[in-house]
This record gives sequence, structure tokens and C-alpha cells, in this order.
Amino acid sequence: MADKRDYYEVLGVEKGASAEEIKKAYRKSAMKYHPDRNPGNKEAEEKFKELGEAYEVLSDDDKRARYDQFGFAGVDPNYGGGAGYGGGFGGGFGGFGDFGDLGDIFGSFFGGGGRGRSTQNAPRRGENVGARLDLTFEEAAFGCEKEVSAQRIENCSECNGSGSADGAVETCPQCRGSGQIRTVQNIMGMQMQSQTTCPSCSGRGKIVKNPCTTCRGKGKVRRTQRIKVKIPAGVDEGQSVRMRGEGCVGSNGGPNGDLLVEIGIRRHPIFQRRNMDVFCEVPITFTQAALGAQIEVPTLDGKQAFDIPEGTQTGRQFSIGGKGIPQVGNPKRRGNHYFTVVVETPTRLTREQKELLRQLDDTLDGKSSPKRKKFFDTLKDFFD
Ligand SMILES: [Zn+2]
Ligand SMILES: [Zn+2]
Repeated sequence: MADKRDYYEVLGVEKGASAEEIKKAYRKSAMKYHPDRNPGNKEAEEKFKELGEAYEVLSDDDKRARYDQFGFAGVDPNYGGGAGYGGGFGGGFGGFGDFGDLGDIFGSFFGGGGRGRSTQNAPRRGENVGARLDLTFEEAAFGCEKEVSAQRIENCSECNGSGSADGAVETCPQCRGSGQIRTVQNIMGMQMQSQTTCPSCSGRGKIVKNPCTTCRGKGKVRRTQRIKVKIPAGVDEGQSVRMRGEGCVGSNGGPNGDLLVEIGIRRHPIFQRRNMDVFCEVPITFTQAALGAQIEVPTLDGKQAFDIPEGTQTGRQFSIGGKGIPQVGNPKRRGNHYFTVVVETPTRLTREQKELLRQLDDTLDGKSSPKRKKFFDTLKDFFD
């Protein structure tokens, strides 16, 4: 699982690739690695399988969105089907709306290996930015709202992104706003026509006469911002939460990039976690183990009473259903809570206590410790 390749990488497409591009890329590679064409080739078979898996996820809008947001965990069967997913995490989280759609359109036009490079004044999506957020065990389990610090490019507030101190922006006369100029060069008697970035406006297509001093005419500034992040219940270590449109500002009307917040989880003094299940150890006394007892078990929801049966052995694991980690996007569904009892052998006994134990021991026979009896019986068979 850890060395799994990114699905986009498997298909050889950009993150913003359109459904059409994904389909095309899949068909091309699937043809190449099809088992019929590569009989007995294990590597091709693996590649073909990998392709199928990647395509299954990326060709499905819902699965793709989950994968974009949470990586493999978002589409891992352990995390369950999508029933109820997308029920709105609120507050901008998981908003697969406005920016997402535009992002795909612009991505396929200007980002994905299409023909030619985009000119500088074409709409361009802003870059994504990353941040890391360390959560407590409980914050990750139940979700929370946090602020992260991220550096991103924003429109200059002084000039509203125009780059001009007085608001006067003119269309570049040399390229007439296209940002590109055609030049004809004579190379060894041949007329070579080429397109280059306009030197007057550096490809922007616009000329600012009186540049803004804050951004020096660029219209954009790099800023460190505190950004509110809504973390859904159930996120796990290493997953990323995507905040649509919270990355760098787009250019020329292009959409903003996204903020990707990578989740880290701090160690908990009692609980451990594996996917949606929580684990802990509960020490019990020798007497509780022997006689059975009602004990208090710590869970994510607080202490819970639990009856352990008479004759419980050390290391035995019990489970409490539905007290584990909520499923991302479907928090009503939860993992289990598992606890292992550890029998603590009494220490620092007084002389009287020791005497009582000896008296007890004198009354015990093989029936009260069948495992030990069996062990020694086997030993005897072995050596006799
Ligand atoms: Zn400015
Ligand atoms: Zn120009």
C-alpha cells in the first residue's frame, strides 16, 4: 500500500486532466499492456492491473474527488463505500463546486500536455499550496476547525490586483494585448517565423504607466496567511485535506489553486489507532481476572463499564463495537474499540498476604490451571 503509485502518475495525466484525457490515456496504455499482447509477461500483467485500478477511480467523479482529497484512504474499501459521503462538511470544505469545475476546464486547456504553451495573458489556475497540521488523537477522530499558516500569492490589496497605482492600465500597443509577437528571422537565407513573448509588456498584454509601489506593478504579492481549515471527523495520519480555492490566486480570471493540508496525529498516552479501530490496554488485578469483574474501559466517548468473565487470561482482547474512529464523510459509521487486559501480578506483598496466597495455592490443583497442567504433562511425555 505504501509503495503504491499515484493514480494520475499511473495513467500519465495531469491532476487537472479532463474525463476525456483520462479515458484516452487509459485506452492507450491498456492496449499496450493488455495480457493478450503480452502473454506470460508478469510485469505487463501488473501494469495492466494497476491501470485498471487507477482508471476505475479516476473515471468516477465521486471516487476521483475522494481520491483527490484523501489519497488512497479516500477510496480504500476499508473506508467503506461512498454512501452518505459528500453530505456537506460545510464551510468550504469539500466544495466540489465553483472552482473545482473551472479548474478541470482550465486544467485541460492550459495545463495538460495540449498543444503549445499558454500565453501569459491566458487564464491560468493559481498554484496549489501545502501546509501541515498536527492534530491530537481526538481532534483527528472527531474533526475540528483549525487555522494553518500558509504562504500564497494573492492579489495586491493596494491596487486590487491591477498593478497600477492610479488604476490606469492600457492595452500594450506592441502586441495589441495578445502578449505575443511574431518575428520573422532570416536564418541562412530562410525566412523563419516564430512567436515570442512581447518584450514591452513581458507577455501580460497590458501596460501600467504608474506602477503600484506595494507590488511593483505586478498586481500580486506573496503573503503568509492564517487560513481556517475544517477537518472532517476520521482523518488519518498522512492524509491531506483539500481546501478548494485557498491556494494562490489565479491569473487573468483563472481559478485559484487549492490549499492541501497534510495531517499529522500526535501520540496518545492510552489509545492507538489502526484505520478506523482504536486499541488500548487495561491493567486488571489477579483477583479481577480470577473472579471476573466489572471494569472501566477508557474509550473515545469516555469511560465505559465492561464485565470481564471469571477466569480471564492476561492478553485477552475484548471489543466494544462502534466506539472507534468515525468514517470520513460518514461519521455515523465508526470502527471498533479493542482493549487487551493485562493481569498485573501483585508486588510488595506483606508477610500476611504472602501467607494467604500460599494457603490458597495449597488448595489449587490442575483443574484451576489447565494450561499449566497440560504443559507439564506434555513435558513428561517428552522426556520419559
Ligand atoms: Zn499593487
Ligand atoms: Zn505587449
